[in-house]
Amino acid sequence: MQIIRIQYARVPRIRMLNHRFRPDVNHLVVTLDVNGYAPPASNDFVKIYHALAELFPTLSHHSCCEGWENTPLFLREEPGVSIKSVGEVADVAHLVEHVIVDLQCAISGMRQCSGITCGHRSPENRFDLFVECLDPRVGIFAASFATALVTTMLTRPRLSQRHRNLATAARLVLEEPGLALDPGLLSLRMQCCPATARWALAELASFGLVDLEGNGDHEHARKTARPRTNPGRRHSSNRTARG
Ligand SMILES: [Zn+2]
Repeated sequence: MQIIRIQYARVPRIRMLNHRFRPDVNHLVVTLDVNGYAPPASNDFVKIYHALAELFPTLSHHSCCEGWENTPLFLREEPGVSIKSVGEVADVAHLVEHVIVDLQCAISGMRQCSGITCGHRSPENRFDLFVECLDPRVGIFAASFATALVTTMLTRPRLSQRHRNLATAARLVLEEPGLALDPGLLSLRMQCCPATARWALAELASFGLVDLEGNGDHEHARKTARPRTNPGRRHSSNRTARG
């Protein structure tokens, strides 16, 4: 799976596809190529979903697919799974979109976030994921981490402690930015060894979430993306405030 492009922009027309998008909130637009997934050969989507739900329990609280009832032919219900699946490669992109939504809420305190996954007509394995985003640094990290997580799970559907550590470190550094320069204190907050904290900071820097070099902000593309949708392959998602 490969991220082709990430843009940070406001795309007013996308509200036509998910009315829960708020008019005053920008969007992260992630263009994603899904490779290495061949449904319906296996139950990979459900296995991956349940593994992800262990790391992100709030995945199971998402509401999904506004207006989906209008296209029941494409719907395949999976018991215990809050994300609608259609039994095709779009499921993987749709799952990444939900993980981006959940990650942003989990690490930055965002209380509401909506998204939608749109399929390109060609190539058919390319998708545009539109997700509400308040901070492009957080959004880009969430998109990159979510894609890496789901990619890993396509071959091994279980999470490691390293994945948990990275999500925890991201949340702590966003809450207390000074921790980015103090791996000793971060290790205390994470209740892990200093080496793990240093590793987590290096990973967060590679994702662009923290700047260990003091080089300032990263550049973000701001071109307005034109949604290219296939009406049979779109999925809207919403997550509201936790507890
Ligand atoms: Zn959804």
